[in-house]
Amino acid sequence: MSNVPQTMGQQHGRRSWAEPWKIKMVEPLTVTTREEREKALVEAGYNTFLLRSADVYIDLLTDSGTSAMSDRQWAGMMMGDEAYAGSRNFYHLEEAIQKVYGYKYIVPTHQGRGAEHLISQAVIKQGQYVPGNMYFTTTRLHQELAGGTFQDVIIDEAHDPASLLPFKGNIDLNKVQALIDKVGADKIAYISVAGTVNMAGGQPVSMANIKALRALCDKYGIKIYLDATRMMENAFFIQQREEGYADKTIAEILKEFCSYTDAAWMSAKKDNLVNIGGWLAVNDWDLFEELRNLVVVYEGLHTYGGLAGRDLEAMAIGIEESVNDQHIRSRIGQVLYLGELLTSWNIPIVQPVGGHAIFLDAKAFYPHLKQVEFPAQVLAAELYLDSGIRSMERGIVSAGRDPKTGDHHYPKLELTRLTIPRRVYTQAHMDVIAEAVKAVYDARETTKGLKIAYEPKYLRFFQARFERLP
Ligand SMILES: *Cc1c(COP(=O)(O)O)cnc(C)c1O
Repeated sequence: MSNVPQTMGQQHGRRSWAEPWKIKMVEPLTVTTREEREKALVEAGYNTFLLRSADVYIDLLTDSGTSAMSDRQWAGMMMGDEAYAGSRNFYHLEEAIQKVYGYKYIVPTHQGRGAEHLISQAVIKQGQYVPGNMYFTTTRLHQELAGGTFQDVIIDEAHDPASLLPFKGNIDLNKVQALIDKVGADKIAYISVAGTVNMAGGQPVSMANIKALRALCDKYGIKIYLDATRMMENAFFIQQREEGYADKTIAEILKEFCSYTDAAWMSAKKDNLVNIGGWLAVNDWDLFEELRNLVVVYEGLHTYGGLAGRDLEAMAIGIEESVNDQHIRSRIGQVLYLGELLTSWNIPIVQPVGGHAIFLDAKAFYPHLKQVEFPAQVLAAELYLDSGIRSMERGIVSAGRDPKTGDHHYPKLELTRLTIPRRVYTQAHMDVIAEAVKAVYDARETTKGLKIAYEPKYLRFFQARFERLP
C-alpha cells in the first residue's frame, strides 16, 4: 500500500488527492537573500527559536498554534460571549469535548502546559514515579516540579530511527510491570500516555497496546492519563495500520481509545485547529473538583481558564472539524508526501513517517560531528541559511540536563524536525522544502559544529545561544 492516502477510491489509473479546502485569504511570504539570512542567524545565536518570523520564508518550527482557522471558526470568533462567568461558548466547548472525546467533566486552560501544570499538581505526590511513553519537554518538567520522577516505558524500537515498526509509540508493558514490582503500585502516580509520540518522531500507539495497558493497570488500581494533543493523528494511523479498524471513522477510533483512559489533557493548539487554547477532561468527580479549584488560582475561572469567549468558540468548532476524516487524511497526506520524496532521495529520516512532521536524522547527516557539537541544531541552522526554512532541534539541546548530575542528557535520537502546520501550506511548498533539504544534505561533509554561548536554566532549547566552531 502506498503511504499517500487515497481519498477518492480509485482503482483505474492515476487519481491525485488534494487539500480539501480552497483559499479565501492569502498571507504573502517573505523571500530573503543568503546574506540577510547569515546576519539574522548570527543575531539569533544559531537558535531558530530566536529568529524573527519576518525573516522566515516557510515556517516549520512547530505545528503549535500555527494552524489556519476555517471561515466557520472565524465566524465563531464574532460570536464570542465575553461574560466573566458561564459564557455560552464554554458550554459549546464542553459539549464538543464530551461528544468527540467522551470524557465527562471539562476544565479549559490557556494552553497545554497550563493543563499539565494543574493535573501534575493535583495528583503527583512527592517521590512518586510517572511512567510515560517517552518524555515530552513541558510534560516531564511539570511532573518533576510536582515532585515526580519520570520513567521512560516506551518500547526500545522507539529509540531506533530506522525501525519500521508500525506502532513505535507503544508502551512496553514489561517495563511498566518491572517498575510496579520494584517500587510498588502506590508509588506510581499514574501512567502518562501520549497519542502519537512527538519526541519519537510522531509515532502512534496501537489500540491493542492501550487495551493491554488498561488491563494491567486495572490489576493494580493505577490510572491512565492521556496526553490527547495529537490523538486525531494517532487515530488515523490506527485506521490505516491496525487490523479491524480500516472501516471505522476517525471519530469512532478516537472515542474508543479515550475510553481506555481515565482523563486527558490537551494542547488545542495542535489537533484542535486553534491558535491558542487547551483543556483538561476527566471522568472522576473528585479530581474534577480539585482541578476546577486549581484553575482559578493559576489560569482563570473554570468556565474560561485564561481564554476569551471567542477562543473557546473557535476551539469548539475546531474540535468538530479536526475529527473529520477528509481533514486528517490531507493533513497527514502532506507529511507523507514530503517523507516519500525525501526517502526516494535516500535522505536519512525517521521511519515510518509520523503524523505531524518529518524528523531528519542529524546523526546520519553529520557522522563527523560529536553529539556535544549539536548536530541537529547545526542542521536547523544550515536549512535556514540555504532557503529561509525554519525547523527545530529535537536532540541533545531539547533533552536538557540531568537535574542531579548537571551533565547533558544524551538522547539516542538527534533529530531536526520539519513540522507541518495544519491547512497552511500546499503540496508545492512540500516540493520546495524537499529540494532545500537535499541541498543541505549534499553539502553535509564540510559542515561544522556549534558550541553553547548562553544557556538558560529551564527548557534551554527555547533561548540558548550558540557560536560556530572553527
Ligand atoms: C505542545 C505539546 C504540549 C504542550 O502544550 P502547549 O500548548 O505548547 O503548552 C504537551 N504535549 C504534547 C505532546 C505537545 O505536543
